[in-house]
Amino acid sequence: MKNFDVIIIGGSYAGLSAGMSLGRSLRNILIIDNGKPCNRQTPHSHNFITHDGKAPKEISDLARQQVEAYDTVIFHEGSVIKLRRKDQGFETETSAGEKFYTKKLILASGVKDIMPDIPGFAECWGISVLHCPYCHGYEVKNEVTGILSDGDMGYEFSKLVYNLTKDLFLFSNGKSVLSKDQKNKLAQNNISLVEDEIEKIEHENGSIRKIIFKSGKEISLKALYAKIPFLQNINASGDLGCELTEHGFIKVDSMHKTNIPGVFACGDNVTMMRSVANVVAQGNFTGAVVNKELAEESF
Ligand SMILES: Cc1cc2nc3c(=O)[nH]c(=O)nc-3n(C[C@H](O)[C@H](O)[C@H](O)COP(=O)(O)OP(=O)(O)OC[C@H]3O[C@@H](n4cnc5c(N)ncnc54)[C@H](O)[C@@H]3O)c2cc1C
Repeated sequence: MKNFDVIIIGGSYAGLSAGMSLGRSLRNILIIDNGKPCNRQTPHSHNFITHDGKAPKEISDLARQQVEAYDTVIFHEGSVIKLRRKDQGFETETSAGEKFYTKKLILASGVKDIMPDIPGFAECWGISVLHCPYCHGYEVKNEVTGILSDGDMGYEFSKLVYNLTKDLFLFSNGKSVLSKDQKNKLAQNNISLVEDEIEKIEHENGSIRKIIFKSGKEISLKALYAKIPFLQNINASGDLGCELTEHGFIKVDSMHKTNIPGVFACGDNVTMMRSVANVVAQGNFTGAVVNKELAEESF
């Protein structure tokens, strides 16, 4: 069994950023990653200064190259399937049966988006079905756009997207739960609420052409925003007892500490604000906090 100061689970933007803070602090680091970042289907990543418009992999490949240049950092390709508390630290086990031991653990494992059962949706995810107006809204400004959501979430999201285009539909995919006031406000802003159930999304290589409804109605679109559910990629609550928030994020304090001493979390697994810039900042900060904790303990 190999011993490390810190094991980081997830070697994407958050994990690599934490790895850089720690590697530069002469900590003995293992980053374990199974190569499935959530944005892998999106052709261009936006809104991360100095890398605007680059392919997501181009950004993460460069990050990995820079982090691996530190001889304190080891990058290991593998899937962590089990976490255990062991002695004063933690043991991680991969699907290949490898076991690694660490004093501190950083969970930077992101989340898995759960695609709705709508034919065409998964193929368009990250290409023309969008998770965030800050990342992709500018590219489809003033285009005919839909939002797949309902209730308060759909209503609030409509306000944001309305700033980018006035050609806007809100698809509740069944009878809407919006209040009368919310419906009136949408109508005042010429946002069409469509309550028909969606049959499928017609697309060409992920570029949306139209939404086809079970009623036979069809609406041509350029982009569709969607708020979809997610799952954690790692069972930190079951394996270690890490608390989750009511929305399913790993619960951390302002120092990115979970409720389990020695276990930290950063990135999409702790935040609603899913952007590369945000998680890189979180990873950088978390690395520094973990380094400080190690320094305190050994002084
Ligand atoms: C479709 C889409 C498009 C996006 N576009 C943009 C954009 O244009 N601009 C922008 O700023 N943001 C964008 N985002 C948001 C951005 O991609 C995320 O905020 C960011 O990827 C989160 O980084 P992360 O490191 O927390 O998680 P991720 O990037 O998802 O990485 C998690 C890593 O952990 C690994 N992992 C997970 N579980 C395990 C395990 N058990 N064992 C080993 N490894 C594991 C995965 O393989 C992965 O490499 C987009 C998101 C999506 C979903």
